[in-house]
Amino acid sequence: TAQPQTLPFTLLIDPVAADSPRTQFDDTFREVDWTAPALRVGELSAQRGDGVFETLGVVGGHPQAVKAHLDRLATSSAICELPEPHLGQWHAAIARATRRLPQQGEIVLKLIYSRGVDSGPAPTAWLHATMAPDFGAVRESGIRAVTLDRGYPHGLAEQAPWLLMGAKTLSYAVNMAALREAHRRGADDAIFLTHDGFVLEGPTSTVVLRTGGVFVSPVPSGAILHGTTQQSVFEHLQAAGERTEYRDVTVDELRAADAVWLLSSVRLAVQVTELDGRPLPAVPELTRAFNAALLARTA
Ligand code: PLP
Repeated sequence: TAQPQTLPFTLLIDPVAADSPRTQFDDTFREVDWTAPALRVGELSAQRGDGVFETLGVVGGHPQAVKAHLDRLATSSAICELPEPHLGQWHAAIARATRRLPQQGEIVLKLIYSRGVDSGPAPTAWLHATMAPDFGAVRESGIRAVTLDRGYPHGLAEQAPWLLMGAKTLSYAVNMAALREAHRRGADDAIFLTHDGFVLEGPTSTVVLRTGGVFVSPVPSGAILHGTTQQSVFEHLQAAGERTEYRDVTVDELRAADAVWLLSSVRLAVQVTELDGRPLPAVPELTRAFNAALLARTA
């Protein structure tokens, strides 16, 4: 009987153990007023950024790429040694939110899973939905990007797992600082490189380039996130008979590419039309096709 909710919408989740046989989770959810206090001061997400998150889009009432996002939430949790999340409970939380949200437009759904309070035994979880910014213009016009040194060499993820590379942790202060640096340099976004010149990812996006007729993305082997939007775009390209590939990409190759995109769940596909001050070829019809395919997803 719940009526569509005006945004923002917040659902506190009492996480159940991953091996719980439950199939009904209603008593583990609590809708709260997002303007009222809801978290404890000892919350480790707030104190240390110690937790993981996902951001997914809801388009016309359809949450997008839910399975890929929840798989990555589980991977991030494992890397951070958090209790394994019960994905059935998260599916139910997303379904509950989706029913309560406006069924038109683009909405951002953020899932947060933290280590809990410092003395508490249980993780903390919540979901928060807001209206998406209007990215229509930037999907058309593209963006300027600069490359920024991430400061470590290729292959570090395997040598130093405590750096939690490959986990989507709540510690995004560095990612946000990189965006500010990009703005200072007169650009809209950044692309991280390893210290020895390999392409990683954007602070909030995955890099895809077209080179020699092949669509390429850096290998999501542990140093970067495996982008859910990039996976959808690769599926779309493969269905159209195009070649896709994960492999190492050098910065020289990126600069010489036929086209470069940054892909992410809410902004979707935007073309990089200028990289480090030099123009890149524009292929607006391809970017439009990517965004049309992404916006048409119903799962
Ligand atoms: N890489 C990083 C560091 C991100 O923060 C994000 C999304 O926010 C992505 C890649 C793109 O992932 P997705 O397409 O699943 O949004």
